[in-house]
Amino acid sequence: MSKIKTFLNLIEKVNFNYIKLILIFLLLKTSPCFATNNLIINIKDTKIILEGNFIQGGLVKGKVNKDLDIKFKEKVLRKTSDGSFVIGFGRDHPKEANLYFFINQNWILKKLDIKQRKYKTQVINGLEKKMVTPPESFWDRIKKENKVIKEVRSLDSAVDFIFQKFDWPTKGIISGVFGSQRILNGKPKRPHYGVDIAAPEGTDILAPTEAIVRMAEKDLYYTGGTVMLDHGHGVTSVYSHLSSITVKVGDKINKDQKIGEVGSTGRSTGPHLDWRINWFSERLDPALFIKNK
Ligand SMILES: [Zn+2]
Repeated sequence: MSKIKTFLNLIEKVNFNYIKLILIFLLLKTSPCFATNNLIINIKDTKIILEGNFIQGGLVKGKVNKDLDIKFKEKVLRKTSDGSFVIGFGRDHPKEANLYFFINQNWILKKLDIKQRKYKTQVINGLEKKMVTPPESFWDRIKKENKVIKEVRSLDSAVDFIFQKFDWPTKGIISGVFGSQRILNGKPKRPHYGVDIAAPEGTDILAPTEAIVRMAEKDLYYTGGTVMLDHGHGVTSVYSHLSSITVKVGDKINKDQKIGEVGSTGRSTGPHLDWRINWFSERLDPALFIKNK
């Protein structure tokens, strides 16, 4: 930033205002843009309001006449009694998103522009070998655990907690960001879908909104102590590496209610919370849920 400042100062002296404008324009174009956008779509007599992050990892909330059906990714979307719905765009979502509205007995397509992101590369060395490539004796266990996680993520619950404001689940230092490509002990692995928040062991983890607890497991192979929360409409969140869990499956919990404590269980190099959010199988960026509200 300081280089840019110096450059701007220099230009100030020369007083070439139009160059300054071009520069600011270029800066705005190249810096990552996480601002929420509003979009109003009018199809015939139907008005559709969309608001959110039209970007990879983003969530968009919409509102329509409650009798209008909407389809996205082959799914007819759940709506609240007042016609609100949500759609999410995964880490690698293409530039175009196809949203369909059922109007006058036809599915009408509306294309949305989805901003493409560049992700960081994260190199982690010195992990125990069995944690990078699990030994065959653990494969069955991992498969079973992944199946349960997948089932939770496929839920389309009628609760409307997703329309509440999200807060950070714990305080700490961001030590890992959404989407980064991980190279573990020199091997390229699946991207990191969570936001990592480094905090001392035992730090409270609080529910970011109201939710229903769908998983409360002490010891999963990768994620150790793991809690999964259901915010409704296909949006679930995961809290990993917990040292203790203070809720149980089926609990309806309030916003800011304690769900557990930060730890380093499972595949972890130190105490931190790994926080993830999904819209069904689409991986979303938790940081976007906070910044723009
Ligand atoms: Zn993580």
